[in-house]
Amino acid sequence: MSRYLALVPAAGSGSRFGAPSPKQYLQLDGKPLMWHTLATLAAVPAIERVALVISPGDEWFDSYRWDDIAKLEVHRVGGASRAESVQNGLAALAAADDDWVLVHDAARCCLSVAAVERLIATLGDDAVGGLLALPVADTVKRANAEQRVSATVPRERLWLAQTPQMFRAGRLAEALAKGPVDIITDEASAIEQLGLQPRLVEGEAQNFKVTWPRDLALAKALLATRRG
Ligand code: C5P
Repeated sequence: MSRYLALVPAAGSGSRFGAPSPKQYLQLDGKPLMWHTLATLAAVPAIERVALVISPGDEWFDSYRWDDIAKLEVHRVGGASRAESVQNGLAALAAADDDWVLVHDAARCCLSVAAVERLIATLGDDAVGGLLALPVADTVKRANAEQRVSATVPRERLWLAQTPQMFRAGRLAEALAKGPVDIITDEASAIEQLGLQPRLVEGEAQNFKVTWPRDLALAKALLATRRG
């Protein structure tokens, strides 16, 4: 029986957010934003371990409490790019080649347990693996350098990639090793470079990535509705 392991890269600086601390440490309900992310992954019964990758120079992690998150293990092996952090995390995980690894952005803090369970249920027997994603609902425009519309892009069969992205540990390590790690923005694209076709599993709008300051208020409101 293969196991399910979560891997959360959280070694980014969150420069687009413009806050003094990285966005994964912004306060949300009295806890760092990524506490919520990690707690959700740990609450999925099928997931055996939740491995967090932080930067070796991380000055924030030790200021907070994490001992209330079961299954959590911390690896201070973050790299210069997200893909490098995932690659280093995979090496630190010491997973078996056929273990499933669910890579999830620390900054997607409103992920639901139900969405992770849907991903696992859909892909558990899949030959390749896949990712949560959303079909594009809006009309899509391509801009020119002057921020004027240069084209309307047909939205048919376009999806927005989310995380978790779930692949076998051995194949993911092989895919990332082919690089180049500085331009791979998600695990699926590394797998695609091997000529494989990851499956798209319907995600949810609430599983957005906190990227801009305005996103924090939305995340706060969503988490509040969950507490009832
Ligand atoms: O910057 P972006 O929002 O795309 O980052 C996605 C995820 O990858 C975040 O959780 C971030 O902390 C992580 N990351 C990382 N190591 C880097 C850059 C980003 O773990 N060098």
